[in-house]
Amino acid sequence: MDRATSDAMRTTLRGPVMDPQSPEYLRATSIYNAMIDKRPAAVVRCADAADVMDAVNFIRDNDLELAVRGGGHSGAGLCLVDDGVTVDLSPMRWVRVDPAARTAQVGGGSRLSDLDHAAHGFGLATPTGIVSMTGVGGLTLGGGHGYLTRKYGLTVDNLLAADVVLADGSFVTASSTEHPDLFWALRGGGGNFGIVTSFTYRLHPVDTVGVGITVWPVDHTREVLTWYRGFLPRAPEDVYGFFALLTIPPGPPFPEELHGQKVCGVVWCHTGAPDRFDDALRAVNEPGRPAFHFTTPMPYPALQSLFDEVIPPGYQWYWRGHFFDRIPDAAVDVHFKYGENLPTPLSLMHLYPVDAAAHRVGPEETAWGYRDAVWSGVFAGVDPDPANAETIRQWCVDYWEEMRPYSMGGSYVNFMGQGEGQERVRATYRDHYDRLAQVKRTYDPGNLFHANQNIEPAQP
Ligand code: FAD
Repeated sequence: MDRATSDAMRTTLRGPVMDPQSPEYLRATSIYNAMIDKRPAAVVRCADAADVMDAVNFIRDNDLELAVRGGGHSGAGLCLVDDGVTVDLSPMRWVRVDPAARTAQVGGGSRLSDLDHAAHGFGLATPTGIVSMTGVGGLTLGGGHGYLTRKYGLTVDNLLAADVVLADGSFVTASSTEHPDLFWALRGGGGNFGIVTSFTYRLHPVDTVGVGITVWPVDHTREVLTWYRGFLPRAPEDVYGFFALLTIPPGPPFPEELHGQKVCGVVWCHTGAPDRFDDALRAVNEPGRPAFHFTTPMPYPALQSLFDEVIPPGYQWYWRGHFFDRIPDAAVDVHFKYGENLPTPLSLMHLYPVDAAAHRVGPEETAWGYRDAVWSGVFAGVDPDPANAETIRQWCVDYWEEMRPYSMGGSYVNFMGQGEGQERVRATYRDHYDRLAQVKRTYDPGNLFHANQNIEPAQP
């Protein structure tokens, strides 16, 4: 894009337009995953919905490539596109809570921390993800799961409405009564249908929660995972616990002798009566005495930011996912093998529960394709040093390949890695793919929004 074109954009937009000559360009194009190296021709920081409409019209009319940046946390780096224009929503970080209606309207560029903080002021929250820097935009549009999912469902199960700028530059509200086809597709279909300038969520009374971490030496993985696969799905909905393979970081609350040790463990969140938490976790001794077991009450936003400092922006990430409805013994063996061989101290595997309340929503009610999954698994090679990029990539791909026979066939769209291909996008949506392609044809027939895990418009 030449200077004249970016100058033309500057005349209508309120937010800044940054090109490679702008002093801010490098910052504007750095994203959470430092493994991604893409050079857009420009980044347009949108101040409001009016800017988004102008940007969409300009980009489309000039035949430019378009990407959308919410929180910039996509592992595959979907918010940047080489030689194209990133519509950056980061100035649109705002939240308005209606405590009487128990709803929150949230700007399309907000982070989870913005929503958690504002809602917590009223003793309220809604299910999102487990790292507070993540953008509400990408997370919500892909489905969204986290500590409150067993109790209150996926993020999309709590989405009441979305304001959307469509490919033709028009602005619509999608809800169960307005553009219900679009509203259905937005709840899991990713950024394929337009740019969401605000989300409206249902909130729930969540204030201080019980938080726990239990770890065992990694050579107990077989016993622990065999216990966990039976315990978690039968646990009350107030009990959430994701299973993890990890290396203990050097710092509190872990005792020094565990620092740097490979372990398996569970991170807990309890939303029931505080005096029931320790009782609910009494079973943690069944697979063998934990090396460390810690519980404490915590304000919900503090839990949400528990891991923020361990994994700041700027590290190398390579990840992939699988949905699971069971964890057979042979799969347990594979987890043990790769847990023993975590390639770097920050590399990890997590199994996030997506059962309980998330199973009470019918399979056709939203675009989320795996209401029968019990866990959404992520396999992530992580390291600060670019020299280790290939090592973490290979570990992730090998692990993921060996887990394929035990997977349900697809993965959470937000855990798809770089270039997994169209077959995997179909696998993510299963039977919903064709319906999504029809909605895509209605709202974005020219596939303007294709810098995502792309759903191609259905053919006439
Ligand atoms: P971006 O890179 O900005 O965008 C990702 C995609 O969404 C792009 O295609 C973009 O075009 C689109 N998009 C973003 N905002 C909008 C918008 N307003 N309108 C239209 N399209 C938009 N997911 C979970 O569900 N639960 C978790 O616990 C969880 N933990 C995570 C932890 C870490 C450290 C990271 C890096 C990710 C985690 N994720 C989790 C995955 C996360 O949901 C995805 O990475 C998601 O894409 C991030 O959204 P974003 O807006 O930050 O990303």
